[in-house]
Amino acid sequence: MSQEANSDTDILIIGAGLAGLSAATYLKRYGYRVKILEAEGRVGGRVKTDKHEGFLLDRGFQVFLTAYPEAKALLDYDALELKTFLPGALVYKHQQSFEIGDPLREPSIAFKTLFSKVGTLGDKLKVLSLAQKLRKMSVEEIFMQPEKSTLAAIQEYGFSERMLRHFFQPFMAGIFLEDGLTTSRREFDFVFKMFTEGEAAIPAHGMEEIPSQLAEKIGEEHILCNRKVSSISGSEVTTETGETYSARVILLATDPLGYVKKYLEQDKRNTQYHSTTNLYFSADTSPIKKPVLALNAAGDKLVNNVCVMSQASAHYAPEGKHLISASINGYQKASDEELILNVKDELSEWFGKQTDSWEHLRTYRINYALPNQDSVAHEAIAEQVKLKEGLYAAGDYLLNGSLNAAMRSGRIAADVIREDLLSAH
Ligand SMILES: Cc1cc2nc3c(=O)[nH]c(=O)nc-3n(C[C@H](O)[C@H](O)[C@H](O)COP(=O)(O)OP(=O)(O)OC[C@H]3O[C@@H](n4cnc5c(N)ncnc54)[C@H](O)[C@@H]3O)c2cc1C
Repeated sequence: MSQEANSDTDILIIGAGLAGLSAATYLKRYGYRVKILEAEGRVGGRVKTDKHEGFLLDRGFQVFLTAYPEAKALLDYDALELKTFLPGALVYKHQQSFEIGDPLREPSIAFKTLFSKVGTLGDKLKVLSLAQKLRKMSVEEIFMQPEKSTLAAIQEYGFSERMLRHFFQPFMAGIFLEDGLTTSRREFDFVFKMFTEGEAAIPAHGMEEIPSQLAEKIGEEHILCNRKVSSISGSEVTTETGETYSARVILLATDPLGYVKKYLEQDKRNTQYHSTTNLYFSADTSPIKKPVLALNAAGDKLVNNVCVMSQASAHYAPEGKHLISASINGYQKASDEELILNVKDELSEWFGKQTDSWEHLRTYRINYALPNQDSVAHEAIAEQVKLKEGLYAAGDYLLNGSLNAAMRSGRIAADVIREDLLSAH
């Protein structure tokens, strides 16, 4: 057993996901000496990109919304070399397909294209008025609205059944990773606003560039990977391999099912979650010729959405190849072979025989992908952040399931810790 000399650390952070990295960034800015202990071999938590045969495989399809307020304050967008997706979407329903121009940011363009097929004239006007309404509302106001489901909100906004089935259901189900749209309307309005005010993007070299940028600024010497914390006693932390670390303050920035679970009071924890399964294929020819999300509007679908990642950033695939991502909601228990067969079969309705020649690269089954978001928040409850004297928590599950929320929860924890440390003097 080794004993670390800890006189060099004011705050120990457990977990190097975006919440932990954000907290560390702010605490360092405030002048504290931080150390992060991360269980895995590298930083990023749920935001990771694996390099595989020249491809960049994000662990689960996800996009970065450039309008995220916390990200604007924390990240260097230029250095991320953001590659944007076209606003709007391609919608497939078995052999039929429609193109949505830009329903969220510039509804006027959309009117010329898909909305004739996807929605009614009333839907077109409602998209426009919802965009205008949300532009005028602050994020704080959005999160103060009474809770109700996204489905109920869409119906209340008066969108037609057709518009719901052909656009909102597949689009939002792919974002919330649940088909029933039970996710809070606050989250729907927030995401809609973010799409309206910015772009959906990926860093040129993979989503992991986001946590990597923060880690670089914090300083690699302050981040210790392969250190899975197994116990905390007072101000002392012990890892699975028996190393001990201590600091005046400990911040738990793990997911809520992991180490933090035992510290969360039963009635205050959100330990429910949504899962996803993501398959990657390599192809010589791109089935979609632009960087746009393809949605599955079929009622009896397996795949929720498809995206050719290499259309957004050429770095995602080696020369002469394309990288196709197919996302399915839920944790799919079927074998890889069965899934590949079923996905190719379903997508052959969209793309024809070419799916036969796609080469399967990898399947990611992500059990804990997003916290359940039937009820979400923008402000953390004090007792959720301060678990007890010297022990604090951060993580998306305290607010809502997004990169923005993870970064925000880290900032909130950093602010609460700073206040407590200042008032203790
Ligand atoms: C497939 C998928 C798609 C998504 N799509 C989007 C999207 O399009 N847009 C968006 O904004 N958000 C999206 N999200 C959500 C976003 O990625 C998360 O909200 C965010 O990354 C959560 O960060 P976190 O720091 O709260 O938690 P995590 O990333 O889970 O970080 C927790 C960290 O704690 C570590 N840890 C756990 N236990 C221990 C221990 N005992 N000792 C030491 N370390 C420990 C873990 O290894 C991990 O690194 C998606 C997520 C997934 C998985």
